[in-house]
Amino acid sequence: MGEGLARPEGGRVPPVHPLVPPGEGRLQDLASVVNALEESGPDEVYNLGALSSVARSWSQPELTAEITGIGTMRLLEALRLTGLSNRVRFYQASSSEMYGRALTSPQDETTPFWPVHPYGMAKVFAHHTTVNYREVHGMFAVAGILFNHESPRRREEFVTRKISRAVARIALGLEDRIALGNLDARRDFGYAPEYVEAMWLMLQQPAPDEYVIATGVTHSVRDWVEEAFRVVGIEDWRRHVGHDPKLLRPTDITELRGDATKAASELGWRPRTSFQELVATMVQAELEAERSLLSDAGAAGA
Ligand code: GDP
Repeated sequence: MGEGLARPEGGRVPPVHPLVPPGEGRLQDLASVVNALEESGPDEVYNLGALSSVARSWSQPELTAEITGIGTMRLLEALRLTGLSNRVRFYQASSSEMYGRALTSPQDETTPFWPVHPYGMAKVFAHHTTVNYREVHGMFAVAGILFNHESPRRREEFVTRKISRAVARIALGLEDRIALGNLDARRDFGYAPEYVEAMWLMLQQPAPDEYVIATGVTHSVRDWVEEAFRVVGIEDWRRHVGHDPKLLRPTDITELRGDATKAASELGWRPRTSFQELVATMVQAELEAERSLLSDAGAAGA
């Protein structure tokens, strides 16, 4: 699939799966989306296409609105125009970033949205559009409101991957310091593969709905740093961590915490990976990747 249509977090092309015929389309271009849908004839459509970096959404606000917001409407329109909307089940990747400066905590499906950046605003537009196409056109259109979901496939512009990679490199003596912004921000961090299971479960239900997917537990960015250094056996982590004011955001969300009670009771979904296991998984993956690069370089130099 082309950029902006179905390329997931990480910006990498997903591995070809026998049940997912490859196709090419752009969320900025209705005709290409129609073609991609007609060529692939899907039963389920998962709209993970977005400009998904909060920080970048300030420097590219219009493109964020265009792909993340209008792009979702374009995909829904393409489903409607092709007639596929009568049988296709549609998943919209809504985001906890829509809650922004949330008035209540934890956030659930009834909490009002108060987005504080262009990415959040675009996701709110896409979310309401999804619900509206369900109500007006009778589509099986579902929105999953996923809180932060992390894995080694995260791009490095997200803080968890950035920290995990830097800590692995510091442990191997390849780097000495990492510069970070706001260490006090608290997020509800879960393990991405489990969140993908939740997405699939939502499309197997008898009726379309909205669901929050979250662990219900928050940790600060500082907690992530401390835990990552603990994994590699470094206690005095402070001497490796610097502060870069350029990484502070004009409006940052202090804390997001999700209440996934509805997903537990209706989908039978529960998070299974603890914060400690999640951090360890990501740091171990970076250690393995760095070691294999080192051994490739060693073999090439031999
Ligand atoms: P987000 O929750 O989707 O915005 O995910 P991010 O991983 O981009 O950011 C999570 C939190 O980490 C935000 O509150 C950021 O302000 C904070 N943060 C602190 N230092 C950094 C950094 O160097 N990079 C990023 N991306 N975020 C940082």
